[in-house]
Amino acid sequence: MISVKEAQSKIQENSRILNSVSKSVENALDQVLSEDVKSPIHMPPFSQSAMDGYAIGSQGNTFKLVGEIQAGADSSGMTLKSNEAVRIFTGAMIPNGTFAVAKQEIVEKNKTEIRITEKQKHLQNIRPLGEQIKKGDIALPKGTVITPGTAGFLYTLGVNQVSVTKKPNIIILSTGNELVPPGQELSPGKIYESNTYTLKTALKKFRIQVTIKTIEDNYEATKKSIQESLNECDILITTGGISVGDYDFVGKAMEEVGVESIFYKIKQKPGKPIFFGKRNSTVVFGLPGNPAAALSCFYLYVTPGIRKMCGISDVSLEKRTLKLTSDYTKSKNLTHFLKAKCYGDKVAILGAQSSAMLSSFASANCLACLPEGQSEWKKGDAIEVYILP
Ligand code: AMP
Ligand code: MG
Repeated sequence: MISVKEAQSKIQENSRILNSVSKSVENALDQVLSEDVKSPIHMPPFSQSAMDGYAIGSQGNTFKLVGEIQAGADSSGMTLKSNEAVRIFTGAMIPNGTFAVAKQEIVEKNKTEIRITEKQKHLQNIRPLGEQIKKGDIALPKGTVITPGTAGFLYTLGVNQVSVTKKPNIIILSTGNELVPPGQELSPGKIYESNTYTLKTALKKFRIQVTIKTIEDNYEATKKSIQESLNECDILITTGGISVGDYDFVGKAMEEVGVESIFYKIKQKPGKPIFFGKRNSTVVFGLPGNPAAALSCFYLYVTPGIRKMCGISDVSLEKRTLKLTSDYTKSKNLTHFLKAKCYGDKVAILGAQSSAMLSSFASANCLACLPEGQSEWKKGDAIEVYILP
């Protein structure tokens, strides 16, 4: 049995960053750049007016009006003399010889002349060429996550295709004779299969599609399904059948098909029996069958593995240190992860902590971590919580 920390670091050590793929920026949302993106242009690509107003040839007050430059027009052939001004609009190219742009609110104008009512500073209201970024400079470094903001920045540079780290192919395999898909009638002895649906929903947050397979508690079927799945995915997640019951075949089947066991039990509750292994480059998580244990373990162990594979450097769920709203007692030997609700700087441990019950997950927004080695907490004590995504 290993500690929570050891388990987390073994998952990181054994999960590889996946290969990269070229994608359109719009389809790369939430993915991670696998190489630096250099700016192909100066931005802005020319000196621009930041205002609707008048480009003036010197610091003087009166100027001869010699023309107009609209946004989009090429004024590179024009040069202002010191007594000249031109009407100009926001985003338009500044002509050569411009001292500053005077905004129109401070300009009095007749047909042929303008008069400036406030003294202008050199280059006032001008966005210089390359002010934001120079051609060839790194716009976004490798490891950047594509968000609407990063996408927007890339588009302003004319970049619409990027190299990103692939997302893992995931197969979820549920085991159990007792399981019936939601929506069907329950016959005696059966329960609804919730794990694959729950995990599939959780994976939507990562925009990862999964393949779901369900098998009965049959050794040969379990072995065959695991063997086939290993060849088809980067991450195989099983639920159930990993404990010590006579019909728990997952552990033995894993071994039989050549999955190297990296750990098989964590000093924690829920989810003490949880298998993690590897075959070639595919990693395998054998999650407990109990629904709340499966979901806790998914958040605590599977998501950091997924994030590593996706090239995300910050793999853990967001952690916060908050104050308990009541006393709490547990046994010393295991780390407990408890469904909890945080608000402000406080955290309340919820009821219904059984690993068979998802009801508390329905109202939880975090998992409170009460570490092994300690058994008592008082109201107001600071504890660490993992914020659920
Ligand atoms: P197991 O680890 O297979 O013994 O399962 C432990 C408990 O979780 C049992 O009560 C199972 O019925 C339940 N369970 C296992 N798999 C699922 C699942 N996919 N959905 C809902 N409950 C499950
Ligand atoms: Mg079972």
